[in-house]
Amino acid sequence: MLDIKWIRNNPEQVKAAAIQKGVDCYVEELLMVDEKKRDYQGQVDLLREDRNRASEQIGSLMMQRKDAEAETLKEQVRSWNQGLVLLEAELNAYDQRFKELMLKIPNLASPDTPIGESDQENVELKVVGDKPNFEFEMRDHLQLGEALNIIDVARGVKIAGSRNYYLKGMGLYLHRAVQQLAVDLLTDRGFTVMDVPLMVREETLLNAAFFPTGKDQTYELPEDNTWLVGTSEGPLVSYFAGEIVDLTEGPIQLAAVSNCFRKEAGSAGRDVRGLYRVHQFAKVEQVILCENNRDEAERMLQAITRNAEDLLACLELPYRVVAVCSGDMGAKNYKQFDIETWMPSRGAYGETHSSSSLLDFQARRSNLRYRDQEGVLRYCYTLNNTAVASPRILIPLLENHQQADGSIYIPPALRPYMRGLEAIRV
Ligand code: AMP
Repeated sequence: MLDIKWIRNNPEQVKAAAIQKGVDCYVEELLMVDEKKRDYQGQVDLLREDRNRASEQIGSLMMQRKDAEAETLKEQVRSWNQGLVLLEAELNAYDQRFKELMLKIPNLASPDTPIGESDQENVELKVVGDKPNFEFEMRDHLQLGEALNIIDVARGVKIAGSRNYYLKGMGLYLHRAVQQLAVDLLTDRGFTVMDVPLMVREETLLNAAFFPTGKDQTYELPEDNTWLVGTSEGPLVSYFAGEIVDLTEGPIQLAAVSNCFRKEAGSAGRDVRGLYRVHQFAKVEQVILCENNRDEAERMLQAITRNAEDLLACLELPYRVVAVCSGDMGAKNYKQFDIETWMPSRGAYGETHSSSSLLDFQARRSNLRYRDQEGVLRYCYTLNNTAVASPRILIPLLENHQQADGSIYIPPALRPYMRGLEAIRV
């Protein structure tokens, strides 16, 4: 959420951001509603003051036995009260609409964000590692997974419908190994690693700016008044919601290992085969709360991006980093890098990590503050990035590391989590 005082003074910038991000622009209505709300608030405050003053006067008139004057004033108060009920109803209606509209206003895009409509306009920043050059007939992750008996999509679909899968034996080990490697890496870098609630209140997802826009992507458990998270970013950002955090020792670094549940509405027909786009997956997520300072936010964005790159280096996978353009970055982000890992069966890089800086957009909604060096209360800045998401990462792992004999090479960094195995074989 942006600051309404800032929006009042900079409506054109907000309009431009909505256009850049390809979202509906509500700023004109917001400013009209804001003015009406403030106008009604002023009237209500004045009338309440008059009424309170009159009530005091009534008391003193009655003490002085000036009953007739007191009665006249009482009549006046009754009529003010009737007026107040009407004014308060108007005020509440405008206040409600104001809150709804504030939640629809997107974050700005950073000045260095490429302007564009879709991922086609994302800008490649760097390319790392060499793509494999197979001297045998390459197989995709499903063919490899089936041959090695570690992935079973057919039964996943039989049991749970499309976009579901089973991982078996060393498939499960690999899935857990990449997550544990990420947890160890982040622990070594000072993150507090957590297990978090996955069924959360609507408020949590509103505060973290996933709602109202992302509701169609989210599974609801209406009888329990909760929602299944699509990422642990929500519960992590909300962990300190409503609190004043201590940033004197530096940014707060949180990470969670969680399952994520996504409806993938709007992706009908896209990436239906295999493990790329599924309804349930696991993710290790990084979240940062830092001072309200753009240089610090940029440093942290670089740091959480580097954490993911270092993990890919451990996995010995080729990847590239792209600057995500305004239309592809989502309404809540200020700046975003994606890391895309080489997926031989797609003949392309595929997104495996998303690194985002949101400034105080989530913190305002979550009322997440800290005291600066002068003791002034300020909203934190928040950032997040994937550390690893599986099974999507199994696609490049299996495909890039396949050998001529059908086995899969296991990079040394993963072996401690794979019972020391150097390769997965039939
Ligand atoms: P996001 O939280 O949307 O930024 O996604 C972070 C990462 O989670 C992506 O880069 C993917 O690696 C993974 N991911 C997102 N959605 C899915 C999905 N439907 N199926 C599998 N992996 C996903």
